[in-house]
Amino acid sequence: MVMDRRGQHAPTDQVLMNCSAFDGTGEGSVGDQAIWLRSDGTVAQVGDRQAVLDAAGATPQPVNVVDLAGGYVAPGLVNMHVHLGLALPGAMTAASDRTDPAARALQMAGSARRALHAGITTARLVGETGYTDFTLRRAIRAGTVPGPRLFTAGHALCCTGGHGHDSDGLEADGADGFRRATREQLRAGADLIKVCVSGGLAGEHEAIETPQLTDDELSAVVTVAHDWGRSVTAHAGPADVIERVIELGVDGIEHGYQLTPEVATEMARRGTWYVPTITVSRCREFFEEHQVPAWMMERALGAGPRHWESLQHAIAAGVRIVMGSDMPPDAPFEGTTATVREMEYMAEAGMPPSDVLRAATSRAAEWLGASGQVGTLEPGAAGDLIVLDADPVVDVSALRTLHAVVQGGRAVRDDRGHWTREESR
Ligand SMILES: [Zn+2]
Repeated sequence: MVMDRRGQHAPTDQVLMNCSAFDGTGEGSVGDQAIWLRSDGTVAQVGDRQAVLDAAGATPQPVNVVDLAGGYVAPGLVNMHVHLGLALPGAMTAASDRTDPAARALQMAGSARRALHAGITTARLVGETGYTDFTLRRAIRAGTVPGPRLFTAGHALCCTGGHGHDSDGLEADGADGFRRATREQLRAGADLIKVCVSGGLAGEHEAIETPQLTDDELSAVVTVAHDWGRSVTAHAGPADVIERVIELGVDGIEHGYQLTPEVATEMARRGTWYVPTITVSRCREFFEEHQVPAWMMERALGAGPRHWESLQHAIAAGVRIVMGSDMPPDAPFEGTTATVREMEYMAEAGMPPSDVLRAATSRAAEWLGASGQVGTLEPGAAGDLIVLDADPVVDVSALRTLHAVVQGGRAVRDDRGHWTREESR
């Protein structure tokens, strides 16, 4: 028996059969499919069961066949707004020791592992502290610890005292200061740049409406990031601030608590991305569990109705919406995870289920510049997928029945033991 570096059996090609599959791009799931995964962890072929079995069987190497017992397969989820080191004001902050890098690394690694088990095979990190995210990204790539494939911004950038300054933000002031802060993230290996241009829910001395960056500061960030081929996403709430920052070249908007039809139309026209994180203004249960202070609870839940309208304006205008939870992706919430609840809310706000699924797979990959690598089940893509009991393209709530997760061709969660019964052919 050949063992690989993780002490498990050396991988062989495998065919997952007896399943329906959504490939991440289409309008629906296709029945009686099989998915051939190569030993290197990539997808070789997806299609009609017998055709795929025949093709895989015609190759000289052994092939393991896994019976998914009629399950529904979709690409592994891509969560576009994650903080693995999240510590909201209140009990979470009290319980975390920000001065101890080892404690932070362990917290983030634990959160990464739980996110992966919840079906998130790729995550975009939009604000972490102390550059631990880059170490973790390397460790996950090396197979040292389990976790989603990470695309990370490093620190979020904010003005002195601005949103996130007391958590994941790196403070800067003036155009020179922001140029330097941007370059520091690029030096560390940032895949994108995150900048906080207005107030938010978790800053005690600000309001959602507070503008926080001047035009020259934001232009400095955008110019440097774009020169280096990185996109810029902005934590932004009020419509007038959003209108101004997309004009200055920001590629995406996080939260957008107060979009108007006019600004949503302009975002659609420019192709600006939007990550609504709609759950953050309606997750009372989560806030109560973590004992956030009363001012934050009031502000967050108070923003809820207007935030919901924003999402509906974006849907109506045809804005490119992608899925991000902001809450820990696996956090238990209303009988499921924050990620699944976020997707249910997107559907409840008016997105067709196929669109919600694309927002959490192929469309998210597009923003990451990772189309064809993650977010789709197509030849050459990573063998990242989830297995459900029902069709998520009919009803997004089918994601509540998730019972297996495969990343890079490896089953990292297998509640039903499908992989323990695999047969060699
Ligand atoms: Zn956030």
